[in-house]
Amino acid sequence: MLRAITKGLIASPISGGRMMSNTSLSGKVAIVTASTDGIGLAAAQALGKRGAHVVVSSRRQANVDKAVSLLRNENIEVIGTTCNVGNREDRERLVNMAVEQCGGIDILVSNAAVNPFFGNILESTDEVWSKILDVNVKAAFLLTKQVFPHMVKRGGGSVVFVSSVAGYQPMQGLGPYSVSKTALLGLTQALAPELAQSNIRVNCVAPGIIKTRFSAALWQSEEVANEFLKLLSIKRLGMPEDIGGVITFLCSEDASYITGETITVTGGMNCRL
Ligand code: NAP
Repeated sequence: MLRAITKGLIASPISGGRMMSNTSLSGKVAIVTASTDGIGLAAAQALGKRGAHVVVSSRRQANVDKAVSLLRNENIEVIGTTCNVGNREDRERLVNMAVEQCGGIDILVSNAAVNPFFGNILESTDEVWSKILDVNVKAAFLLTKQVFPHMVKRGGGSVVFVSSVAGYQPMQGLGPYSVSKTALLGLTQALAPELAQSNIRVNCVAPGIIKTRFSAALWQSEEVANEFLKLLSIKRLGMPEDIGGVITFLCSEDASYITGETITVTGGMNCRL
């Protein structure tokens, strides 16, 4: 009986409609925020290597120039501009530049985040919360809203938010930041059904501890790094490329039936809401 069902499934066209992986992003335009270093730069690199025309940005012109020349040296089609995602005019300039110079927008990777506070959550101030929510959550939403009409013109698109393992399990001393990262999981689910009507998928990645400048306090001391390694199944810290690859997968046709999801990329760190 079981053998007959299996045989039927193998023969059925719905079980094996697509035989080949279709991962090229050639002809696609991808905006990646905070992409002059770390995870954002790795995402820009991975998207560019798959053929996407990438638009990199961050707050400092010198960092933008450096990232653009690094990516061009790898034969990646790239342009760049400064953009502090917390600033409306900067966001508008970024989106306009992509449309005017690249012809449209297909992909948004919203990667920027700040953490101006470390300590007991009750000591965090109004200003700290405003800054964290403005940059880490509101800007992610507002940028999505800004790129939406351009993706509609292209017939669809893909949005990826960068959350954190801290969004599942708040990290000690990083209360407000952790809450902002939990909010991105909610934002992903809130946007996905509405944007699916326009053939736009919305997903999220939640990195574990990735070796970047942002997380230096967690790995610079061998003693602290070893404590974190105990929490992992894969006994090494993550590298930006580990996240760039997953972001690129989510933006590709290989993920065409995935929306509203968050993929944790943590080396096996136990995390749940
Ligand atoms: P990173 O290596 O320190 O790079 C940060 C990048 O963000 C730089 O290009 C920086 O350039 C830019 N940037 C900072 N503030 C910005 C702003 N307001 N607007 C635009 N760009 C800004 O950091 P990362 O570790 O890759 O972090 C990237 C994302 O991953 C963040 O959302 C972070 O929360 C998340 N994450 C990281 C880890 C980790 O372990 N590293 C874990 C979980 C989640 P400028 O200085 O020129 O602006």
